[in-house]
Amino acid sequence: MIQARTRSPEDTKNLAAAMAELAQPGDLLLLVGDLGAGKTTFTQGFAAALGISEPVTSPTFTLAREYHGRLLLHHLDVFRLDQISEVLDLGLPELLDSDGVILIEWGDAIRQALPNDYLEVALTFIEGQPGPLDERMVVLTPVGSGWQARADDLTAATEPWLEASSQ
Ligand code: ADP
Ligand code: MG
Repeated sequence: MIQARTRSPEDTKNLAAAMAELAQPGDLLLLVGDLGAGKTTFTQGFAAALGISEPVTSPTFTLAREYHGRLLLHHLDVFRLDQISEVLDLGLPELLDSDGVILIEWGDAIRQALPNDYLEVALTFIEGQPGPLDERMVVLTPVGSGWQARADDLTAATEPWLEASSQ
């Protein structure tokens, strides 16, 4: 588990961009966190670092959006129940077969249907302490061999954002 902290939306984008440098075809990232935590913001920074110049918007009313950069990026949001059932019924096997990188907002909702090989990115508001409201805790948990093998690279790439406790 890697514990990081960001201080602004731009900062979260920069963290995501640093992580995107490690992305490989077939990667799966689960973006976890409440509404407004920064899952879409994270995706925007990740996409920009893959060379995607199109604006990345929330896929709330479409099942998945696809963007072409250094790698193909699939951006999903499974917040609503109908999105969950749709992705489970239709899109998932095909997506998981693709060579793209898949980022799923609220991905923990469909964890059981996903392969046991992903990076969980959990964004949380930092409450109950003085300081700017723009701070977020970002906890990275590599699950399975694919990301565990890159845990050291992940630590190195995210070094500027790491909490002292996880260094
Ligand atoms: P989600 O997709 O998790 O619902 P969004 O990325 O759409 O969240 O929204 C996050 C909101 O919080 C945006 O308005 C963004 O500007 C704001 N924000 C403030 N500080 C941060 C931060 N450190 N990281 C990400 N977003 C932040
Ligand atoms: Mg979102």
